[in-house]
Amino acid sequence: MIIKPSIRSNFFTNSHPFGCRQNVLNQINEIKSLPTFEGPKNVLIIGGSSGYGLASRIALAYAAHANTVNVSFENEPKGSKTGSAGWWNNIYFQEFAKETNHIHKDFVGDAFSPEMKQQVVDYVKNNLGKLDLVIYSLASGARLNYQTNELIRSHIKTIGEDAIGKTIDIINMNVESLTVTPANEQEVLDTVYVMGGSDWYDWITALDQANLLNKHAKTISYTYIGGPTTEKIYRGGTLGKAKEDLENHAKKLNQQLKEKYEGEALISSSKAVTTKASVFIPQMTIYVSCLYDVMTRHHVHESIAEHKYRLFKDMVYGDKRIVDEQKRIRLDHLEMDPEIQKETIHMMTTLSNEEILALDGTKMFLRDFYQINGFEFDEIDYEKDVDIQTLSELRAK
Ligand code: NAD
Repeated sequence: MIIKPSIRSNFFTNSHPFGCRQNVLNQINEIKSLPTFEGPKNVLIIGGSSGYGLASRIALAYAAHANTVNVSFENEPKGSKTGSAGWWNNIYFQEFAKETNHIHKDFVGDAFSPEMKQQVVDYVKNNLGKLDLVIYSLASGARLNYQTNELIRSHIKTIGEDAIGKTIDIINMNVESLTVTPANEQEVLDTVYVMGGSDWYDWITALDQANLLNKHAKTISYTYIGGPTTEKIYRGGTLGKAKEDLENHAKKLNQQLKEKYEGEALISSSKAVTTKASVFIPQMTIYVSCLYDVMTRHHVHESIAEHKYRLFKDMVYGDKRIVDEQKRIRLDHLEMDPEIQKETIHMMTTLSNEEILALDGTKMFLRDFYQINGFEFDEIDYEKDVDIQTLSELRAK
């Protein structure tokens, strides 16, 4: 089949396997060009098929020579459906990573489920021994409550009052105004249930009870703080409440890991990047586009792989950790630099919609958005027929 991008309400309904392969390969090549470092030996990544989780996996597999286990939720190809980008990222990561001569294992299914936790516990026990690092990098719109069988959905909403922002309609290439309405109390609780820290806590508890955490074991999850232009919709909204909950669980876990393993639980505030999740947050598309423009001009723009490489090399396993008063790792210090913020806000508030669309930063954002689903790579011939079924069978081998 010939695969062209299919986007509905800023959401990709398909992916291109060869482009996903290219995306994984580019990240691997970036990491290979950087110095190696002493890091963890055995790593579990929950949400390691795309975005920050995949970048973390590649950084640690290639620069620290780690064994990696990844849990992700993906759609496999079926009939005319291409399968999700993460499905192909997993397949091609495995294909490339054979060269590392280390163990890399994928579990595809629901990370929230007790069964998945048990499967991973059994696998780690039988194949790896103990874990040195657990990365919790899940971004999900819903979570099944396995006790009540109820599917709980998260909501990207404000708290208290409306927020009026802008977004890019990617199909029509328009900048549009968007009003986000406040959440009710239940919607706040539901978002915290889906995107907060309780499942991270359950994972660490399950691994601890199975005696699978090594001395000095660490765990880390990714938060976002951001600046004033995203405050109402992000930090001050439902997602911010979920992140507060994640950060509170980190404090609890940190105490427990410190006492039992001389380990630690960390939160890293990562920079805003283009991932599947970021385009659903109104105002984020415009903010990220202007931010890319400013950070590139100031020569401080990092790719997603470089960002996570620096996190582990300098701040988790190195001695260049930057933390704030709440002990969160501030990997986002380049984004939050007052000069970068000032220029970004100035652009967001003074440029016309047409000027925003014409920015190099917006072009970077849009190219990234296509590329995370495997489109718009110069190296790929998109007119070429793709035999999805045969490719997918690669996974079984
Ligand atoms: P992403 O959508 O690219 O990746 C999410 C991962 O979670 C995928 O591997 C997906 O398969 C997995 N997943 C989702 N539901 C699952 C389930 N039920 N079971 C198993 N796996 C499941 O997201 P991302 O943007 O990389 O976000 C990861 C984390 O980083 C989030 O906590 C997010 O808030 C945080 N973060 C993101 C940004 C950003 O700009 N994107 C910035 C700072 C922090």
